[in-house]
Amino acid sequence: MFVADCLQVNRQGHLCVEQVDVLDLAAKYGTPLYVMSETQIRKNCHLYRDSIQQFYGGNGMALYASKAFCCKEMCRIADQEGMGLDVVSGGELYTAISAGFPAEKIYFHGNNKTESELIAALEHGVGAVVVDNLEELETLDRLAGARGVCQQILFRIKPGVDAHTHQFIRTGQIDSKFGFSLETGEAMEAVERAIGLSHVELVGLHCHIGSQIFDTEPFALAARIMIGFLAKIRQQTGAVLTKLNLGGGYGIRYTPQNDPPPYEKYMEQVSLVIHETCNLFDFPMPYILLEPGRSIVGPAGITLYTVGSVKEIPGIRTYVSVDGGMTDNPRYALYQSEYQIVNAGLAAQEKTMQITLAGHCCESGDLIGENLPVQHLEKGDIVAVLSTGAYNYSMASHYNRVPNPPVVLVRDDMDRVIVKRESWEDLTRMDV
Ligand SMILES: *Cc1c(COP(=O)(O)O)cnc(C)c1O
Repeated sequence: MFVADCLQVNRQGHLCVEQVDVLDLAAKYGTPLYVMSETQIRKNCHLYRDSIQQFYGGNGMALYASKAFCCKEMCRIADQEGMGLDVVSGGELYTAISAGFPAEKIYFHGNNKTESELIAALEHGVGAVVVDNLEELETLDRLAGARGVCQQILFRIKPGVDAHTHQFIRTGQIDSKFGFSLETGEAMEAVERAIGLSHVELVGLHCHIGSQIFDTEPFALAARIMIGFLAKIRQQTGAVLTKLNLGGGYGIRYTPQNDPPPYEKYMEQVSLVIHETCNLFDFPMPYILLEPGRSIVGPAGITLYTVGSVKEIPGIRTYVSVDGGMTDNPRYALYQSEYQIVNAGLAAQEKTMQITLAGHCCESGDLIGENLPVQHLEKGDIVAVLSTGAYNYSMASHYNRVPNPPVVLVRDDMDRVIVKRESWEDLTRMDV
């Protein structure tokens, strides 16, 4: 009935996250409200950890891509679940370190890391910096040299694979701002350059072809290409790189029409290709890193709103306006993303309305979705938007000086706040 496993309906017909009635949560904490299922998050972490065990004999690690949803408690959960962490900014790094996340399990990404971010990475002793370009390579070597350390690095490679997903979340093709291109020879040039430097140690390669991908084929193709490049590096330079980071991008269900293959299937197919290609080139099996973000937290989260008005424009559409919108969920405005929605108080009933769910910002594009089927809705009802655990809280803004909602974590029949609600006072805290 719902796109996420952590949801159910109780005897009163109310939507529940695990065993907690979301109407109780709305009453207790107010709306808008992000609610996440801790059990679901931990289960999703297990899937990746187990697949590393099953398909690579434990010779690897899953990193949680923290940009999907980053706060201290999420870093602690990822750590407790044995995950490494992928961070893409000084702020995410700071959050992880503040939460006590072990620095050696942090991989630092980004296509334009500033010097102060690189210095923070060196000083905290991150496991690896994923270097994006030649300027960064030189800068990092200089900064590491000044501190008398040698930093392990991976190179971000564009494998030239076109994943079939929205153009804004496609990153593996040659026309991308991320990484070194294979086709132009720039990747091999960078490898040769790195080998000649004394304060960086190139230990492996990274690729990430995009996000919300349902096909296993592009992942398999990218893996094949990356192993081929590892073999070519050995042939041309003698260097045997030992780590291969295959990125994230596994798709999740936002609507009942979305039908991603089970993660085990992805893992199995990609691992087959990796074993095969390693055999073909007689290349030693690299240490495998996976970087799931969306598939860890996306299905574990929902957002609750209170309906303020229902505006029927005869023959055109019905606008239902809620007390949040693009400030807590900009994904529709960014990529026309689709969602399943539910009247949380009538969750088991038939969907009899077709609506446009509108936010409260001064912006016509401030919508959560159009043509959404939903149960009868009227002023005061609590509406739940499902699968909002990834790229919602982390993409929230203060447009119109709207404070960010809190995040409540549910486990079994218990709930606790892991990010507090912002106040109007918080909004003016930096004003002078
Ligand atoms: C965004 C990103 C991820 C996570 O992608 P998901 O689609 O959320 O799994 C992993 N690695 C890199 C480098 C990324 O940019």
